[in-house]
Amino acid sequence: MEMITDNPAIESAGFYWREHDGVRALICAPLEQDGFTNAFSTRGGGVSPFPRDALNLAGFNEDEAENIYENRRRFLKLFEGVWTLAGCWQIHSADIRVVHDPQEAKPKPGVLGDDQYCDALVSNTPRILLAVKTADCVPILIGDPVTHSFAAVHAGWRGTSASIVRRAIEQMQREYGAPAANMRAAIGPAANVCCYEVGSDVIDLYKERFPQSDYLFAATRDGHAHIDLQKANRDQLINAGVSPDRIHTAPLCTMDRTDLFFSYRHEKALHGRVGRLMSVIGRKHQPTLNQG
Ligand SMILES: [Zn+2]
Repeated sequence: MEMITDNPAIESAGFYWREHDGVRALICAPLEQDGFTNAFSTRGGGVSPFPRDALNLAGFNEDEAENIYENRRRFLKLFEGVWTLAGCWQIHSADIRVVHDPQEAKPKPGVLGDDQYCDALVSNTPRILLAVKTADCVPILIGDPVTHSFAAVHAGWRGTSASIVRRAIEQMQREYGAPAANMRAAIGPAANVCCYEVGSDVIDLYKERFPQSDYLFAATRDGHAHIDLQKANRDQLINAGVSPDRIHTAPLCTMDRTDLFFSYRHEKALHGRVGRLMSVIGRKHQPTLNQG
């Protein structure tokens, strides 16, 4: 495994690059030190024609299944040992799926990809990688080192407006008794406030649901503004009880860094179809009893 640590801003945010056979991913170091295998994928090193050598990890209606499975095989080589991916068919909801065992993680026979509709997953089972797919939306990975429970969250402007990250934390509390104060969270690369423009429908929805949300918007043209969804989710984590110094935000914009990431807004116009990034979190071992 080759470690790439070429970017001081990424390092000081708590992240580093891992690369294996041309596949590169962003790892949150403190989350890893807490015992959680984690990664945010990038676009290179795969076999999909988006336009070439793309590591497209989802979207069975836009790519050949054999490409996606080969790309997933390459992506999983970044991690030691055998892992089962547990994903969902994302619908920009605030619905959460609890994955209780490895059998539940696997899709039903004959089903391509994921057949359960939701936008966040929660588990405490070893050797499962909870996976969310994004291209501009915000991926958030959460781990609690005390109860060993963890979550993966997909938060676009819709999911963020429905407070999906707070709901995922509440689910971890209900299922595993995980207190938010112990949790650590990594907010991954996403379309940032520098680029991500929304219209008055989104601005009005946020004003209605979050009366104090003016600070999330930077006005652009009439009736439009750039929205800071990374900050919105960071603040939802803090409001749910996660300590600010245990939240790590990747300083990378998917719309700026199209060399590294798939961007829905960029890709759709350019190629007509969009590759999907994958963000994963899991843990290797059963917790040992009587520890500490
Ligand atoms: Zn940007």
